[in-house]
Amino acid sequence: MLIGLCGGICSGKHAIAEYLIQHQGFRLIKLRTTSSPRITDEPEDDLRLRASTLGINDDSSQLVFDSVDSLISFATERWQENLVTTDIWDGATLDRFLLRPFFLLVSVDAPVSLRWKRFAERCQKRRLDPPPLEKFVLWNDQHLYEKDVGSAYLTDRAQVRLFNSSSSLEALHEAIRALDLGDEERVRPNWDQYFMQLASLAAQRSNCMKRRVGCVLVRERRVISTGYNGTPRNLKNCNEGGCPRCNRGEGGGVGLSTCLCLHAEENALLEAGRERIREGATLYCDTCPCLTCTVKIAQVGISEVVYSQGYNMDQDSAAILEAAGVRLRQFSPVSYQAVYLEF
Ligand SMILES: [Zn+2]
Ligand SMILES: [Zn+2]
Ligand SMILES: [Zn+2]
Repeated sequence: MLIGLCGGICSGKHAIAEYLIQHQGFRLIKLRTTSSPRITDEPEDDLRLRASTLGINDDSSQLVFDSVDSLISFATERWQENLVTTDIWDGATLDRFLLRPFFLLVSVDAPVSLRWKRFAERCQKRRLDPPPLEKFVLWNDQHLYEKDVGSAYLTDRAQVRLFNSSSSLEALHEAIRALDLGDEERVRPNWDQYFMQLASLAAQRSNCMKRRVGCVLVRERRVISTGYNGTPRNLKNCNEGGCPRCNRGEGGGVGLSTCLCLHAEENALLEAGRERIREGATLYCDTCPCLTCTVKIAQVGISEVVYSQGYNMDQDSAAILEAAGVRLRQFSPVSYQAVYLEF
């Protein structure tokens, strides 16, 4: 795989690259380009200097490419090796990387005051005068937000977002080790992740005022049907007042018997029809099925239910599914929220 690290000045992307190189068998690949930003992490922007801070002085271990094309060709031929780069400077280059199924963009951020401190320490090591905070903030704004060249829009597209507030390198290393960035499933979701994400996508179509729920029915790794909750056809949508119970704003589970909204599972089951479900079908639902859905799931012959979040009657649903011989397990897909790197 190829990991691209991007982030603000002194956010820690080079330190993370260094860790991956020294401890997880990654190789650094670099891009010599005219479009690199005028402002970089280094007090003096010098490739050799940067390589030495990464602890790489052996020329054979450092691969420098003159064009994005040559770098991508190299990485494509060696996609099963572990490669890392910190040289993605613009959106057009990022677009090309993101097309490849072995590429993972990881963004790193940290509080500006902490990054300034790190920058000042770096200056002192080089016997240079550190800039005042105000000057650093102006550089930082330019680096992140300058029209067309700012890096903020790169970090927005990262598949993994790290927030590096680590106070020491050891703490950062420990956090990166625990995170296991080299896990291939970050680049390509496994089947559970894939179907659960489809269920979450279906939930986004829900118009139910109580709770958005999505469901996907699968057999032999093929989607049979999808569903989300809401009022039946020809009735007003729940969010347009179609279900008085849902619009009353009472707590979850109150007055369920007067609710007009079909549940995501019910819609998916009705859509598929019993003939297409048969034995061996799996129901993915982003919320654990309620009791009334559970009995229907048991009746149509679903073999397994996979849910992501709990609901307020999980124990009862679990008991019914167990009695009916339907497997039940919880699977929560990887979160796309920022990961705080602090131990
Ligand atoms: Zn509703
Ligand atoms: Zn309702
Ligand atoms: Zn239900």
